[in-house]
Amino acid sequence: MTLQNKLNFSGGPGALPEKVLVQLSEEIINVPGPGLSILGISHRSEWFAEVIAELENNIRTLMGLSDAYHVLLLQGGATQQFSMVPMTLLRGQNSPAEYLHTGYWSGKAIPEARLEGPVRVIWSGSENNFNRLPSDDELCFSPDAPYIHYISNETVEGLQFQRILGRNDVPRICDMSSDFLSKPCEFERFSLIYAHAQKNIGPAGITVIVIRNDLIEHTTGNLPGFLDYKTQIKAHSNFNTPPVFAIYAVLLVSRWLINDIGGLENMAAINNRKAELLYRVIDESDGFYRGRAAADRSLMNVVFKLSSAELEAGFLSRAQAAGFSGLAGHRAIGGLRASIYNAVTLEAVEELAGFMDEFRRRSKPN
Ligand SMILES: *Cc1c(COP(=O)(O)O)cnc(C)c1O
Repeated sequence: MTLQNKLNFSGGPGALPEKVLVQLSEEIINVPGPGLSILGISHRSEWFAEVIAELENNIRTLMGLSDAYHVLLLQGGATQQFSMVPMTLLRGQNSPAEYLHTGYWSGKAIPEARLEGPVRVIWSGSENNFNRLPSDDELCFSPDAPYIHYISNETVEGLQFQRILGRNDVPRICDMSSDFLSKPCEFERFSLIYAHAQKNIGPAGITVIVIRNDLIEHTTGNLPGFLDYKTQIKAHSNFNTPPVFAIYAVLLVSRWLINDIGGLENMAAINNRKAELLYRVIDESDGFYRGRAAADRSLMNVVFKLSSAELEAGFLSRAQAAGFSGLAGHRAIGGLRASIYNAVTLEAVEELAGFMDEFRRRSKPN
């Protein structure tokens, strides 16, 4: 492992556990059993059928899902789900689906849904520059909506819901791309959850979709097979050639979460500790570091800035020289961002916190 891999704070594709990277690097040449490179194993092999079955099962175990749910592994990223969800559930509907506009990524989901049917944005953070999330008394959900859609963690602005929204008689749909499997959650209160792998659980190439049977039982849309949840379910996520490597990498991460970390409770304890460390440095910096969120701070993406662009550039170049990477803010808003996904270790975060303290002391005017 290089120092840069250990100190990778990238917003995505993000850090992966050292153990997984080492195993993958060996298996680029030889996967024990098949004796083949992971890059050259047939997606129709018995070996790969077992990989899919074990991964589905691990996701069920981690999330505590009953048989009422299917687990799918699809390509196209979260962006494809921005379309697939309304193609399946909103085409031909008269009452609007309800969307929350809480930041950059929900702002990408909404126009895609509008292409398929009526949408009502029930809350938007645009007036306050997306520096907080809505409270319950700002939200009024209609019983007639075909579904409600929101994003659990706004990756760019660094805002995270710590509760489940919506009403129990309307299907809840959630994009959990940037905090999936980072903490326990009552996952069965959702009808559909999607999360691409490349932030918290693997490399780019697949998106995990967890979908309740009854959500799609009665849908009839004439969709291309690739974009049809039902077809994909029947094919066990193997409708056309899936990204074998990415799926295998996510399997190794799921084993790491279960066997090395010990499940989502333990993962959450580590993640809380990591976020606490960085927010403390920010809060105790006398305004030197300025956190972006006024409330609802994300435990995954710590977004902050300094008093000037010059100081931020100095921070980034000093950080790079010390081995840190991925600390520049998203290109849409600038500033700085430390993404502390599951695979970023507590030790790496302690190093970053130390670096930030040190940088502040050195920059203080005398
Ligand atoms: C990064 C991100 C996306 C975009 O995902 P792609 O896989 O690139 O399509 C969508 N939603 C959230 C919450 C994200 O963080």
